[in-house]
Amino acid sequence: MTSAEIRQAFLEYFSQQGHTIVPSSSLIPGNDPTLLFTNAGMVQFKDVFLGTDKRDYARATTSQRCVRAGGKHNDLENVGYTARHHTFFEMLGNFSFGDYFKQDAIRFAWTFLTEVLQLPKEKLWVTVHHSDDEAEHIWKNEIGADPQRFSKLDEDNFWSMGDTGPCGPCTEIFFDHGPDVAGGPPGSPDDDGDRYIEIWNIVFMQYNRSADGNMTPLPKPSVDTGMGLERVAAVLQQVHSNYEIDLFVALLQAAASAVGTEDLQQKSLRVIADHIRSACFLIIDGVVPSNEGRGYVLRRIVRRAIRHGNKLGAKDVFFHKLVAAMANVMGDAYPDLRTQRANIEKILLKEEQQFARTLENGMSILEQAIASLTGQVLPGDVVFKLYDTYGFPVDLTADVAREQSLTLDMTGFEAEMEQQRQRARAAGQFAVDYNEQIHLEGETQFTGYEALEDRSKVVALIFK
Ligand code: ATP
Ligand code: MG
Ligand code: MG
Ligand code: MG
Repeated sequence: MTSAEIRQAFLEYFSQQGHTIVPSSSLIPGNDPTLLFTNAGMVQFKDVFLGTDKRDYARATTSQRCVRAGGKHNDLENVGYTARHHTFFEMLGNFSFGDYFKQDAIRFAWTFLTEVLQLPKEKLWVTVHHSDDEAEHIWKNEIGADPQRFSKLDEDNFWSMGDTGPCGPCTEIFFDHGPDVAGGPPGSPDDDGDRYIEIWNIVFMQYNRSADGNMTPLPKPSVDTGMGLERVAAVLQQVHSNYEIDLFVALLQAAASAVGTEDLQQKSLRVIADHIRSACFLIIDGVVPSNEGRGYVLRRIVRRAIRHGNKLGAKDVFFHKLVAAMANVMGDAYPDLRTQRANIEKILLKEEQQFARTLENGMSILEQAIASLTGQVLPGDVVFKLYDTYGFPVDLTADVAREQSLTLDMTGFEAEMEQQRQRARAAGQFAVDYNEQIHLEGETQFTGYEALEDRSKVVALIFK
């Protein structure tokens, strides 16, 4: 089955089970300052789960475009390293707003997988939350799931959208890609998620978590499920990696020819193919590369892709050329890719030209620093200089470092940032209240690098 056929079959099946087909919402969550990007199908229904919004349906089904490149669910660092993670992907989902609960949710999922898609039962593995005897009972006694391919887990079987908001225990279904792939079953010591790939998460939405960590019951127990289209396509197209499915073949070829390489297996090509997808869809939803918030995430994604192109020997700007392939591959499902093609190309080309001016010099500084390194940690002043003078987002430097098994001295980087802040203050250029600036953006879930970069951009503002 092609990805388009799987998407269609899913929506049709759930429509037959009384679900209203609802269009994907934007990647920019409406009215939700706690969330960077739409990272799951439930996001557009958050208020319905909380009981503050009403719809004229109690069952819905969607194919939701998602981005996980920041915040609680961040897969940016996984791209290029795992077979199953993208920054942009499509999540197929069915939802019950106080209508059906565990029994039907489990039955629908099992029927869709084993009867509609005809996946062999002996290839599937099920997990439930360790406290959820009810779900365990349904699986074992009503569905007849094999107890040998069943485990009860803790955190992995409790899903939350972010640090706050709707959450609850979940049950997940995995596909076993067979003994040719290394790794053990879910929850086992040698499980790295690669042989048994998680395909579907069925969440029993029962609580609302507040900022202080308290969980209060939702008005009505509900269901939220998410199945990765690309992961299911890999299963049905009998490949292990998502990057080998129909949606990626033409993209990888386009990327290879744009950078001038022939080896389609290269990791960097996968990164580029992944990143053109998120870049296109973020731009369609109104994000432009910038030094703050969502725009900075897009900038990081684009610059990372450009660096990977450079690594493969790209002699010239190339990234914007892949928009044409995107329009071909996904234009039927997402016509905006065709109508907005010229605009997306223009935005990407501008970013490429801007970064091209400093990339070469920055890379040679980085390579020299790495060559003269004695330990395994890249000094903070180098990371800072690359960030400050050459426009290298910290995660881009980390990405290069990781390829050589190095890490970054983030404490040193922070110290450099602080010194720069002080210099700015001393020079009387302190134009913005730095704390307030962060607060104003409302992006409380930024952590780690993001928090750092968020603060650094204030310094960038000061020096403008
Ligand atoms: P994993 O453990 O593999 O990282 P997850 O538990 O973080 O996945 P969920 O939050 O449960 O994923 O999302 C529901 C489904 O969406 C997953 O079962 C998977 O099929 C799909 N999915 C999640 N993250 C990604 C991603 N980065 N790229 C592609 N598909 C994804
Ligand atoms: Mg994950
Ligand atoms: Mg998981
Ligand atoms: Mg999951």
